Amino acid sequence: SVLWSHVEAVVRELEESCATPIKKLRQVADAMAVEMHAGLASEGGTKLKMLISYVDNLPTGDETGLFYALDLGGTNFRVLRVQLGGKEGRVVKQEFEEVSIPPQLMTGGSDELFDFIASALARFVASEGEDYHLPVGRQRELGFTFSFPVRQISIGSGTLVKWTKGFNIDATVGEDVVAELARAMERQGLNMRVSALVNDTIGTLAGGRYHDEDVVAAVILGTGTNAAYVERAEAIPKWRGLLPKSGDMVINMEWGNFSSAHLPVTEYDRALDDESLNPGEQIYEKLISGMYLGEIVRRILLRLAKEAALFGETVPEKLLVPFVLRTPVMSAMHHDRSSDLDVVGTKLKDELGISSTSLRVRKVVVQICEVVARRSGCLAAAGIVGIMKKVGRDDAGEEGSRVPRTVIAMDGGLYEHYAMVSATVQCTVKEMLGEEATDSVVIKMANDGSGVGAALLAASHSQYL
Ligand code: ADP
Ligand code: MG
Repeated sequence: SVLWSHVEAVVRELEESCATPIKKLRQVADAMAVEMHAGLASEGGTKLKMLISYVDNLPTGDETGLFYALDLGGTNFRVLRVQLGGKEGRVVKQEFEEVSIPPQLMTGGSDELFDFIASALARFVASEGEDYHLPVGRQRELGFTFSFPVRQISIGSGTLVKWTKGFNIDATVGEDVVAELARAMERQGLNMRVSALVNDTIGTLAGGRYHDEDVVAAVILGTGTNAAYVERAEAIPKWRGLLPKSGDMVINMEWGNFSSAHLPVTEYDRALDDESLNPGEQIYEKLISGMYLGEIVRRILLRLAKEAALFGETVPEKLLVPFVLRTPVMSAMHHDRSSDLDVVGTKLKDELGISSTSLRVRKVVVQICEVVARRSGCLAAAGIVGIMKKVGRDDAGEEGSRVPRTVIAMDGGLYEHYAMVSATVQCTVKEMLGEEATDSVVIKMANDGSGVGAALLAASHSQYL
């Protein structure tokens, strides 16, 4: 039978090690701001890469014409086309298609992955309808959203620093991903130019700004997590080029790699990290993002199964399999509002092969989901407050003045679908900023902003301008 006293002790210990009191969150926000400064000061050797995106102008609304976008950054990739009609017409028409990436391509050869992507893109282009208009003699142009750390020297090219989020293809590291895609498009006989290489945060920022002029930062909470924001070019000591006309430069923080002694890291997180594809890296991401939350819960449940017979005398076999418990399943269990926690019971049975669980056992499962999800939301909020501090939007400064309206464009499946996480992000940001800034700082869901944003950047960096 279940050793309830041990279950309770393990859960209590978990709650303590995951605790995120405001004081701790402020330390995390401060550490984030400090690391931002460090990453802007020098190239390399810092946790935050603070990559210069070469985007010094965000969309204005004047963009016109037909543009494509391709979004690669997780388990799915998306292709999108949009007909832009300028200030009057705005987004005249848009269509997208989502394709899931066969897992074996994520750790195979570089050409195989890019050929798969280019062929899906070629098929999508072939389905272009009559209401999209490409002027005669012109090449189609594409905004390529590639959500992995890339070092750029222009808006139109960039070399891959490393793969994350379960991708691991050695041959691509150090290569220009635009050239890789261009060669694959050529092999497909697809005549298209990559006009802008961005990541999802930059795309979301661009799409967000198109719809709301007060957008200053973008955050992704999906399979992975990252953020981008608008920095003053003169506040980037490592910037060697000419100062851009706008005076601004968009920075891709790569905040998933943030780490700090103030982060509440548990034994489960350490084991997950040790056994991951990238031990020691992306520590913040491993505490926050959708790729990992379910896996953290699995590890805790596994310990309870082994040490306290939570699911009976034998350890359920499936519970031994890394990543079997996916975050959407965790979310479904966490949001179960039925009195006997039916959803939890069903999910445990269907996903983990654990049948006939008692209500008390189900309650423990929900409690663990709560602890892990809450920590995720609180830490993401602390990161956002760190950015607000860096750009001076965390308080009004002078007595009696107000923080200007500040919008954070948010995207990603975790924020979109995991209500307990998004609610925690929202209320924790408000709690941390206090009254003065609370009404001025807005987090806005920018649904599929990433695709349109990349197309907008392709438009503003068109070869025909
Ligand atoms: P990506 O980050 O791969 O570009 P998304 O932004 O769509 O893609 O995020 C997908 C991630 O969102 C999934 O990996 C999963 O972790 C999370 N997610 C998707 N659906 C849900 C859900 N219903 N509840 C909780 N998390 C979800
Ligand atoms: Mg995405």
